[in-house]
Amino acid sequence: MTTKDTVACRVIVITSGKGGVGKTTATANLGMCIARLGYRVALIDADIGLRNLDLLLGLENRVVYTAMEVIEGQCRLEQALIRDKRWKNLSMLAMSKNRQRYNITRRNMMMIVDSIKDRGYQYILIDCPAGIDAGFVNAIAPADEAVLVTTPEITAIRDADRVAGLLEANDFYNVRLLANRVRPDMIKQNDMMSVDDVQGMIGVPLLGAIPEDKNVIISTNRGEPLVLQKTITLAGVAFEEAARRLVGLPQATEEPTSGGWFAPLRRLWGQD
Ligand code: ADP
Ligand code: MG
Repeated sequence: MTTKDTVACRVIVITSGKGGVGKTTATANLGMCIARLGYRVALIDADIGLRNLDLLLGLENRVVYTAMEVIEGQCRLEQALIRDKRWKNLSMLAMSKNRQRYNITRRNMMMIVDSIKDRGYQYILIDCPAGIDAGFVNAIAPADEAVLVTTPEITAIRDADRVAGLLEANDFYNVRLLANRVRPDMIKQNDMMSVDDVQGMIGVPLLGAIPEDKNVIISTNRGEPLVLQKTITLAGVAFEEAARRLVGLPQATEEPTSGGWFAPLRRLWGQD
């Protein structure tokens, strides 16, 4: 149970239906951005079969304990909640390391999230597994809000739409869409749906649009979220913008003369 003096905490599940559309990438980058904005953030890897949030954050060597051991009383939450060395207000918890042993229940998941809330975290982002089976049901259980990730492909959109329906049936009122791997060149050629069209089909408000960017893959391989890198990347800027929108901060304003970084992003949103 949460205690009275717990600070307000937003629990947001990052979900999609289809696998491989960018949930883990979004969890790592949005989480890092929100931490850099000064909030205390915990990221939960609830994708047990394809656990890779630790890799994206470069924390794979530090995962000794997981929520599984906490639940079984073999360690304290603090031992499983790994603090990022770069941003000490960012922590990560893996639900389980063992693909075979998936016996985490909804109740376990809610207890873990409540314990993290009690430690004063302001944002908890849950990286949801693909699909709509038990893993999905468990991952959404403790969340009040959702970010629905999709790519502008018909298969991903159909799954996202299905998940949007399930979220609605589970009383989620705050669901926002993150369109990932958007390619303005293909949209222009009518080879890809525009972000507006994608949003129209799924019918949930748009949180952001992230361009297809090879730097995402480079950063994954380095274990350093894109938004931490010294060189500015289009996808990194787009994640920053989405994170600011998620926490309700005004967008970073553009220098009137800069043109460069924000113009392509506006194009992604279909504003140019
Ligand atoms: P999920 O967690 O939904 O399965 P991931 O976040 O693991 O998806 O992303 C799947 C793959 O797509 C990864 O190899 C990742 O690097 C790549 N990827 C994700 N977003 C982008 C992007 N905007 N541009 C290029 N590659 C991307
Ligand atoms: Mg993933």
